[in-house]
Amino acid sequence: MKIHTASFLALLFLSAAHHAKAQKIYISADMEGVVGVVTDAQLGPSGFEYQQTREHMTEEVLAAIRGARAAGATEFLIADSHGNGQNLLLDKLPKDVQLVRSWPRALGMMGGLDESFDAAIYIGYHTSTSNPRGVRAHTMSSATLTDIRLNGKSVSEAVFCAATAGHLGVPVVMISGDDAIVEEATRDIGDIEGAVVKWANSFHSARTLTPEAAYDVIEAAAQRAIKRLDEFEPYRLSGDIEVEISFKNYRQAEILAYLSVVERVDSHSVRYVASDMIDASMFVQFVNNYEPGLSP
Ligand SMILES: [Zn+2]
Repeated sequence: MKIHTASFLALLFLSAAHHAKAQKIYISADMEGVVGVVTDAQLGPSGFEYQQTREHMTEEVLAAIRGARAAGATEFLIADSHGNGQNLLLDKLPKDVQLVRSWPRALGMMGGLDESFDAAIYIGYHTSTSNPRGVRAHTMSSATLTDIRLNGKSVSEAVFCAATAGHLGVPVVMISGDDAIVEEATRDIGDIEGAVVKWANSFHSARTLTPEAAYDVIEAAAQRAIKRLDEFEPYRLSGDIEVEISFKNYRQAEILAYLSVVERVDSHSVRYVASDMIDASMFVQFVNNYEPGLSP
């Protein structure tokens, strides 16, 4: 009897501990998929609507935090994952969250993520360079890259990051952006929650919600996602991973192939065989960030 009581109590304690477990959420925020964004005018410091778009991006992150909190999330790390990595307005974030800013950083758009997180959320994401639809569709760099493939398959930033998170055992549970990326991500990653804040007409046009309406849609999606947290599986690629990168220009492929670990697969493309997604991500960070003229 005594043993039974003890094990019953232990079970009770374990299940209480399980339910009380703090939910730690990672939010990676890009900008192309933020409400109202259609062109360069919203996407960088020289654009006439950039300051407003920073507010919208920040409010979208806050909406995701509100929704996730309502479903039980307690801890947040946010990664500013667009352009200069200094878009989100730090002063507007609650004091119990932390923010990853600027580059370079290991794991890129997932910088700061580790095994301790329970879920990852994407805000403001956009379609890949291989998708014919979507506002500002590109993968990692519209200026320099034409494709990134993992094991022969073209991937979006969303899938690349999901595989990175998956390696760390963290499932991606929600994405916001235009209708095209929500469709692409739910097709490629699985049944994650989507928040559509605009409908793409073309690369530079969309029918968009108003900011306030977008925040509501994002808050609701984040709440739904964290509520059904137990249903998600990490997106995992196992074994060696073939990373292929195609460049807009010719010379990057030519010069990278000087390295014995890099193989040139065609005039504009290289292949690197990574031991896992962390290695794959490091290779992509290197390719996108290294130049000998860097200073300081
Ligand atoms: Zn992006």
